[in-house]
Amino acid sequence: MTRLGSIEAGGTKFVLAVADEQYQILASKRVPTTTPAETLAACAAFFAANPVDALGIGSFGPIGINPGTPEYGHVLKTPKAGWEGADIVGTLKAALNVPIAFTTDVNASAYGEYSVGAGKDAHSLVYFTIGTGIGGGAIQDGRFVGGRAHAEMGHAVVLPHPDDHFAGVCRFHGNRCFEGMASGPSIEARTGQPGETVPRTAPVFDYISYYAAQLAFNTYVNLAPEKIVFGGSVLSDAELPKVRQYFAELNNGYVDAGDLTTLICLSGVPNNGSATIGDFAMAKALL
Ligand code: ZN
Repeated sequence: MTRLGSIEAGGTKFVLAVADEQYQILASKRVPTTTPAETLAACAAFFAANPVDALGIGSFGPIGINPGTPEYGHVLKTPKAGWEGADIVGTLKAALNVPIAFTTDVNASAYGEYSVGAGKDAHSLVYFTIGTGIGGGAIQDGRFVGGRAHAEMGHAVVLPHPDDHFAGVCRFHGNRCFEGMASGPSIEARTGQPGETVPRTAPVFDYISYYAAQLAFNTYVNLAPEKIVFGGSVLSDAELPKVRQYFAELNNGYVDAGDLTTLICLSGVPNNGSATIGDFAMAKALL
């Protein structure tokens, strides 16, 4: 039986899992993100005890994703103490000697949506996660779109809502980027309440719908994908009609983007599982 491995490499924990070819989980474990040596040793020990034929890794970033470059598989310049320069792929390859697919956490989720989720019948999709941060990944015919680095779609330039005078939480871009204006921490910074306790009828969710619509509209006019999928904890079914309405207003009748309920949707992988499924699917594609 083929066994597939997944590592969701996050800034606070690494989630490890093994599945069969149908992505049924056979074993899983969470390990805290401490030092690279300790955390990667825990990963190696888990997969030594639960062997896999290939491994997919979706990692926090920034990371080197271009095979053949010295940075490939490494964590790049990061505020996460001790992790700058950490060789995730090299360390695990040496320990496990199996094929490894390595990309960003949001690209892994995009691949999960493409493989079995909201984009399973599409050739092209762009996936956004709106949570603690905002990130995006684009897929065309099974390949990630990108060149010299992975995308940083959450930091694209935003047009602030006319009633939203918030200064933004992005320390690089203030109120001029999506992450600064629409991420989970921006809700708490505006309202003084954790996002999950703020009613969906509050103005902040109208603003965030406006920003999500800008993400979707910019994406559509740039890439015209078949699907634009939103994941993460911030957007819900309650906002989707508003996102589509703002999209239509921004478009103002210019492009025919088809049925917006088909184009713009939420994650189609149950239990926020798109990253894990994406890791398994990337691993499977190596075999
Ligand atoms: Zn920013």
